[in-house]
Amino acid sequence: MTKSDLKTYQSMLETRLALLDSRLRQHEDITVERQAEAIDEGQLSAERDFAIRNLERDTAQLRDVRAALDRIADGSYGLCLNCGEEIRRARLLAVPWSAYCIGCQEAMERESESGSRDAAPLLDEAA
Ligand SMILES: [Zn+2]
Repeated sequence: MTKSDLKTYQSMLETRLALLDSRLRQHEDITVERQAEAIDEGQLSAERDFAIRNLERDTAQLRDVRAALDRIADGSYGLCLNCGEEIRRARLLAVPWSAYCIGCQEAMERESESGSRDAAPLLDEAA
């Protein structure tokens, strides 16, 4: 990977970080506002679930983006965290916070789909 590639990914990551940051701040406002206005309980819970899902997705992505920026800082950026192979350029350009090569990512997704659902207690608690 060249230095200019690295700069490109870094600026993409920083742009993303700023976007997620401002979106996460808006989430708080929107959630509070809608709860105050909503009359229909069903609508309220659907909107709240939707907001919670968005919030969880953005929070997870924010963590990935920060981790990728850390890897740029320590020089390990662009290498799969699982197998150590270089992550393909096209993949990094599409998703610069990728931590795994496509092979490892797909293997993990297959595993989490077939595995237990122990990892998702947050939505149940809100329902
Ligand atoms: Zn890999």
